[in-house]
Amino acid sequence: MGTVSVYSDKLVWLANEIFAAFPQEASGLSFYTLDCACVYYQRVFMDGSLDPHVGIYRDAENGPCEICMSKDEDWEERVVDEIVVYKSNFQMAEA
Ligand SMILES: [Zn+2]
Repeated sequence: MGTVSVYSDKLVWLANEIFAAFPQEASGLSFYTLDCACVYYQRVFMDGSLDPHVGIYRDAENGPCEICMSKDEDWEERVVDEIVVYKSNFQMAEA
């Protein structure tokens, strides 16, 4: 459970950063954690569609990810966890 908690804190923090950067467009965020510890994410728009642009987050202390740099086209096959955070849920959690 400890691992899950730390992990969620990071995603909540990341969601906050992204929602702050895109206050209008996104109703949620879909996060994909990869086996290399990178987090890929797509914004979920108000109509429920996914942003075709996939963002990547990686802890700076871990340095650049050679796996993702060398073969990022098959990243979906390396997803180990997937979670969707909705802005409404997030705001309720913060209140
Ligand atoms: Zn990676």
